[in-house]
Amino acid sequence: MSEGALKPTGTKLAGRRIAVTGSSRGIGAGIAKWLADEGAQVVVTYSSNEASAQEVVKSLKGSGHLCLPLNVSDEASVDAFFAKVLEAGGLHGLVNNAGIEKDQLILRMKTEEFDAVIGTNLRGTFLCARAAIKMMFKAKVAGSIVNITSVIGEMGNPGQSNYAASKAGVEGMTKSLAKEVASRGIRINCVAPGFIDTDMTRKMNDDQKAKILSGVPLGQMGSTEDIAAATAFLLSDEARYITGQTLSVNGGLYI
Ligand code: NAP
Repeated sequence: MSEGALKPTGTKLAGRRIAVTGSSRGIGAGIAKWLADEGAQVVVTYSSNEASAQEVVKSLKGSGHLCLPLNVSDEASVDAFFAKVLEAGGLHGLVNNAGIEKDQLILRMKTEEFDAVIGTNLRGTFLCARAAIKMMFKAKVAGSIVNITSVIGEMGNPGQSNYAASKAGVEGMTKSLAKEVASRGIRINCVAPGFIDTDMTRKMNDDQKAKILSGVPLGQMGSTEDIAAATAFLLSDEARYITGQTLSVNGGLYI
């Protein structure tokens, strides 16, 4: 694996407005930055960390970016968000990145913990995809949607039955939606990260990290830029013949 920071190489998203859910930090913030570097106008969203989202927007290259509140698990919040996006001129792309985990072995997992993860990761992706597709249909925009799933949805992991179910569900939903909307020129794909250095994985102790890394052929955790580069590719015209797919970005963790 080559060392050093990855950088965008062009302006492949110039003139596109793209919303990235949950872009106040972590992978979402990395995607927002990358898309702006590629020429996009980005809609940054936060559910609780407004100050952090404002910092992300300030750091973006170019102009015309927006910063809006969005709780993907709350239908009224999703409706209000997409109404504001419509006022701003609509969307060419959407990245369903917002996600949570509430890990617990099955006998200790509370029903609320299961529902919360499904409600944000799976139902939230459904609500946002439906609103974005409706907007694209009406405006006759041949847009692109990328859903951020996870290697865990493909391989499973003890203590993550709710999270794995939510991410596997998004991959199944993506395949169905790809078939539904292809005739309108809309593409929808997934990026499935492996272990990426963010707040979500910083909760793990050194032993847990070492155990995971021992199973990663490329021998290190991924960066937010690794996920951003794959996402930008799927949003761009370079991927015009790709729909209903999952691009795994996991260092070979699950082959
Ligand atoms: P993170 O650092 O915990 O950030 C989560 C983001 O989601 C934050 O911006 C947060 O907003 C937002 N969010 C949480 N609940 C929300 C809700 N109900 N509505 C709208 N936004 C909400 O997570 P991350 O590591 O960047 O993960 C991003 C995505 O990648 C997730 O879908 C995750 O499952 C997936 N993923 C991550 C890894 C990894 O190794 N990190 C691996 C595989 C997949 P606030 O800051 O405003 O709360």
